[in-house]
Amino acid sequence: MNRELEKRLAEEFEFMRRGPLSEDGIDNLYNAFGIETGDGWYQLLYDMCREIAIVFETAEKPVTIEMVQIKEKYGTLRVYYNLEGENDVARKISDITQKYEDLSETVCEECGREGTLRTDLPWIQTLCDTCYGRKQFGSKLS
Ligand SMILES: [Zn+2]
Repeated sequence: MNRELEKRLAEEFEFMRRGPLSEDGIDNLYNAFGIETGDGWYQLLYDMCREIAIVFETAEKPVTIEMVQIKEKYGTLRVYYNLEGENDVARKISDITQKYEDLSETVCEECGREGTLRTDLPWIQTLCDTCYGRKQFGSKLS
């Protein structure tokens, strides 16, 4: 995701700010690489963060979630995070991230329009018809 969009998320949601890397390098892939998806999922991630923030707000709990990795895998969104404790807040956050991971199968990762999971590309991706067409054309050229 482009840095400008990442910055917007980080400005709005403190838990989306990338922390410093530890001395020995890459133990937190989010801190190292940021959001490893296309720009089309910006709104999806924004909505997810908004819901996460509301859970903490409503429970009147400090925001203790730490992002570990946000990426695309097999064409859909994956969100990995640390959150201490097994409680109501943790269950709600787990439901929310699951919901958005599922939703990502319907949103074009490139442009954010309605998309479909495309399994016949060299790299499985959720794409709208236009972006899909462009990828097919591109793979014929190369
Ligand atoms: Zn698209």
